[in-house]
Amino acid sequence: MVPFLNIRSINAPYRNEIMAAIASVVDSEQYILGGKVAEFEREFAGYCGTTNAIGTGNGLDALTLIWRAYKEMGVMREGDEILVPANTYIASILSITENRLTPVLVEPDIKTYNLDVGQLGKHLTKRTKGMLTVHLYGRVAYSEEMQQLADAHGLKIVEDCAQAQGAMYRGARTGSLGEASGFSFYPTKNLGAIGDAGAVTTREDRLAGIVRALRNYGSHKKYHNLYTGVNSRLDELQAAILSVKLRALDRDNDRRREIARMYLSRISNPCLQLPEPGPEESNVWHLFVVRTDQRAEFQQHLTDRGIGTIINYPIPPHRQPAFGEWAARSYPITEKIHDTVISLPLNTAMTDDDVAEVIDACNAFG
Ligand SMILES: *Cc1c(COP(=O)(O)O)cnc(C)c1O
Repeated sequence: MVPFLNIRSINAPYRNEIMAAIASVVDSEQYILGGKVAEFEREFAGYCGTTNAIGTGNGLDALTLIWRAYKEMGVMREGDEILVPANTYIASILSITENRLTPVLVEPDIKTYNLDVGQLGKHLTKRTKGMLTVHLYGRVAYSEEMQQLADAHGLKIVEDCAQAQGAMYRGARTGSLGEASGFSFYPTKNLGAIGDAGAVTTREDRLAGIVRALRNYGSHKKYHNLYTGVNSRLDELQAAILSVKLRALDRDNDRRREIARMYLSRISNPCLQLPEPGPEESNVWHLFVVRTDQRAEFQQHLTDRGIGTIINYPIPPHRQPAFGEWAARSYPITEKIHDTVISLPLNTAMTDDDVAEVIDACNAFG
């Protein structure tokens, strides 16, 4: 029996420290935007190698507030176009549409599942103002080539880091690569809270100041409002818990890499297309996604052996009723990905025996 995920076992090693962190918040006199949020923001900015981190209520809000801040700064206006991978999780796209910016869906590279820099050029128009690069499944989706293209056309690179806390490109962490980044700390992410939580990181102090105000009613100073903001503050309890788990993030990511290495070297079934790993530091393996034309049979085969799997994701954004205006469009690479992907269990609660059980089951298929 190998469940896809057991969130309780994943948090078990940190339980005592988490309970102590919760107690210290309960006993404190600051429940909203207190010392724990400020401390986590400092630690997380330092971890990412950037100058500002601003805690938010969740990952979607983190991304949404970045675009909103660009609008407040006059850098972007309603109707401006933002390039985004067509195969991303829908939240990436919602952050753009919520701001009445126009998402321009770009087919990914089928080998990395990430934005294909070669595809970007043909989507550029006078209204293209930025791109949301999504480090999908934990693999960095940023490169010097991407930066050069952005610089040449005056585009802002925003990172969706929800699945890639701690991943690195040439020694620099996600969250410090683009101009601004949105993180989610949803409980199942590599750095997960015990509820909803998120953060924006950025090296741009002005942008940081605006996001900081926007998350708190648009207020820099109590009872003074510069913007019509929202309430999306990082919760003090979640911040205290995230500080505990941040200290273990590199070790947790190393264990994920170890499991991925075992899968990559020992799964040898020609029916399964394994992921391309990329440089070791660039992947924190949020998900281990394989592709197969016999997905339903493969999933049943693993279910019969007590192995849990998930499909990330079954329906692409352009096929969702929420985006009915895109229903007639065709993105063949994206559709092929959504029709064939399936995620194997990969998490820090797994033992080497669990990993071996999954490998044996994969190799026995077909
Ligand atoms: C989880 C996730 C989000 C949204 O984060 P929430 O905290 O759930 O709002 C955004 N983008 C990607 C790629 C995600 O995986």
